[in-house]
Amino acid sequence: MALIGMKNPVAELDGDEMTRVLWAVVKEKLILPFVDLKTEYYDLSLMNRDATDDAVSAEAAAAILRLGVGVKCATITSNAARQEEYGLRKLHPSPNATIRAILDGTVFRRPITVSCIRPSVVTWKAPIVIGRHAYGDVYKAAEMEVEGPGRVELVYTRVDGVERRVTVADFNGPGIVQGIHNLDESIRNFARSCFIYAVQEKLPLWFAAKDTISKTYDGRFKALFNEVYEREFRDRCAEAGISYFYTLIDDAVARVVKGEGGFLWACKNYDGDVMSDMIASASGSLAMMTSVLVSPSGVFEYEAAHGTVQQHYYRWQKGEKTSTNPAALIFAWTGALSKRAELDGTAELADFAGRLEAAVLRTIEEGEMTGDLAKLAGAARGGGNPAVSIKPLDSWEFIGAVAARLSV
Ligand code: NAP
Ligand code: MG
Repeated sequence: MALIGMKNPVAELDGDEMTRVLWAVVKEKLILPFVDLKTEYYDLSLMNRDATDDAVSAEAAAAILRLGVGVKCATITSNAARQEEYGLRKLHPSPNATIRAILDGTVFRRPITVSCIRPSVVTWKAPIVIGRHAYGDVYKAAEMEVEGPGRVELVYTRVDGVERRVTVADFNGPGIVQGIHNLDESIRNFARSCFIYAVQEKLPLWFAAKDTISKTYDGRFKALFNEVYEREFRDRCAEAGISYFYTLIDDAVARVVKGEGGFLWACKNYDGDVMSDMIASASGSLAMMTSVLVSPSGVFEYEAAHGTVQQHYYRWQKGEKTSTNPAALIFAWTGALSKRAELDGTAELADFAGRLEAAVLRTIEEGEMTGDLAKLAGAARGGGNPAVSIKPLDSWEFIGAVAARLSV
């Protein structure tokens, strides 16, 4: 069988532990037999990041910017325990944070849904995608304990020395205070990334904040989203047949739980942190959550939402064939290949990515799945076809079962 060609490469960012082990198996069994794969390879394993003084992370981010598409394996974020375990020279920042800072992107998380695993929210018919702003607010806050009576003020000193002050509170006794900020340009870029994703995926876009209470702060988010929509995306949304909808965050939460899903929910930083965990667990499993970083300039980096599955890796090192779920890793590859195909106009590659995704879904829906899903699946939980019996597989057997369906 002739291999499917690629016009341009994607940036490939290899990673750590169990996901690194499965990365190689996914490529060997599910991609290389079918595609004449072109990648620019960057080894983001912890040891190589340490050896290159983390230059490799920035080089990989630059490659994603240049090539327009990247695919990334999960990576260890170093901490004291990992420094000891790997004998690191020093602690480096999370590669995801480094890449996000260079691409200036927004992360979109989307569950992979299968008929045999029903979401906890019974009305959901289509996945809900979360778009999380990744800059500022409480994640870049200044905080202080107030030890007793006194006034706390916000002071803005302009570069020409002019001062403005607002009283936060007159304290009668001890308490706490926090200062948070955001930047117009970061909010605009967040909005742009959300509209780009919504138009591409043809998903209605919701944005929610609390501008009734926070008239200046959340009010600015609402105003800038609206400005980006009116100036840059109104026509593109109309062409894609999608709507933009702003509502209060509490109204959004109520609608999400009563609704049918099938939209992109743009969230401020903290809301996105909390709501993406809610959506992931209500949809089924962390191992079935895909993640893509979209930059405001339209560059895409695909990955699985989960980490390196450390405990499985230690068991694999002892010779066990673990039942780690590679679905989100496979979808990271199909996401990157279909984006590459779209940019290059290569229909055959797009078709392959679609067939590989369909093969993964069919394998699971026909009862062959990894242990994490076997626990959740089946008629007992109200999903799937009671005639299909569930066969738990290890990762290698599962990838083999997908390959068998892909070849026919
Ligand atoms: P994790 O690797 O996502 O794993 C947490 C638990 O979730 C696992 O122990 C496993 O549960 C389950 N799980 C996750 N993915 C699974 C899969 N594909 N198949 C089956 N079960 C899966 O998170 P972590 O243990 O907190 O972090 C491990 C390392 O990953 C850390 O060093 C962290 O820095 C890194 N990390 C990287 C990224 C990234 O690169 N994007 C994201 C998060 C974390 P059971 O043990 O019950 O089977
Ligand atoms: Mg969180």
